Amino acid sequence: MSLLAKRTSRVDSSGIRRVFELARSMKDPINLSIGQPDFDVPDEVKTAAIKAIAAGHNSYTPTNGIVPLREQLIADEKVFTNRDYKLDQMLITSGVSGGLFLSLLALVEDGDEVIIPDPYFVMYKHLVNLNGGKAVYLDTYDDGFSINPDKLAALITPKTKILLLNSPGNPTGRIFNPAELQAIARVCDKHGVLIITDEIYRDFAYTPMQSISQYTENCLLLGGYSKSFGMTGWRLGYAAGPTEIIEAMAMLQQYSFVCAPSFAQYAALACPQADMSMQLSDYAVKRDLMFEALSRSFEVGAADGAFYLFVKAPDGHTGDSFTELAIDNNVLIIPGSVFSERNSHFRICYTVPNEKLLAGAKILCSLADQT
Ligand code: PMP
Repeated sequence: MSLLAKRTSRVDSSGIRRVFELARSMKDPINLSIGQPDFDVPDEVKTAAIKAIAAGHNSYTPTNGIVPLREQLIADEKVFTNRDYKLDQMLITSGVSGGLFLSLLALVEDGDEVIIPDPYFVMYKHLVNLNGGKAVYLDTYDDGFSINPDKLAALITPKTKILLLNSPGNPTGRIFNPAELQAIARVCDKHGVLIITDEIYRDFAYTPMQSISQYTENCLLLGGYSKSFGMTGWRLGYAAGPTEIIEAMAMLQQYSFVCAPSFAQYAALACPQADMSMQLSDYAVKRDLMFEALSRSFEVGAADGAFYLFVKAPDGHTGDSFTELAIDNNVLIIPGSVFSERNSHFRICYTVPNEKLLAGAKILCSLADQT
């Protein structure tokens, strides 16, 4: 008899594990699988972190996060979305992962349905399952990875509680435009479906980026510092939304994470002083470079933002089989089946030096041209 709770069997990490197992035999691979920026935390922010530690900001912070950071985020959100969040509507979390974990723990119960546009960030379906909910997939492949409001409406049942949105998207790079956001908000408002919007890639936008929180109050916004400031290991994010939900998340944070890392909260106060425009324009160049190189031999998805391309495997291949072929040829990519109920695509992450990108693209294109 296993000691483990049944809920652990609802989570399955086999897809991604299999890729990393295949990759273990690779020597000095061209690694297009990473999923995080290749730039370091900016100096201003590192210095602020060191100063915070030296000044003794090493104990617990308030569960909801330090007030100056919450105030800073409220001001940022006012500029970005024109929304006026109150202090009790802003919670500092341990990364967006922390925000996802706490929000779904607070909101999802047995049998609740959560609509997840497919392809999706891997964590979503597992957290929904873990909490006893049912992931309902909204296939977006035939709509250019956009959300067709009629298809969305057709999936809504009396059990539907949440739509989990992600723009700019991982793995697609898709950014929803204002008309799309308005249409999605209209459908959700009509049926009383809460939108959780994961905007962790908000700063990586190569076309104008808006938040769906501009179009509906019925929305929980999750944002973070991991990607924007190259601090994935510092575990810092935030959640902003209806007071009732934020308070429940804070209560659960009190008995789990307790608070987000103290030094990281203080350091984030210096983030507005860091100019990330060079890094972001570098990524725009990489996006163009890789989009162009791969488009010669592949059908490549939208690429409006984030740092991913979602690419269709060549005819005769599934995403899995093409990934195995790529790995055999020393290029590490992630099969789309990790992010999807379909197995037709693969994801590349372009946060690597340009020479590596071009070398990787050359190999991938030659493999596609041989099929
Ligand atoms: N959401 C998406 C879409 C992501 O891609 C990631 C990280 N890969 C996260 C959330 C989690 O980020 P964090 O480091 O803030 O927990």
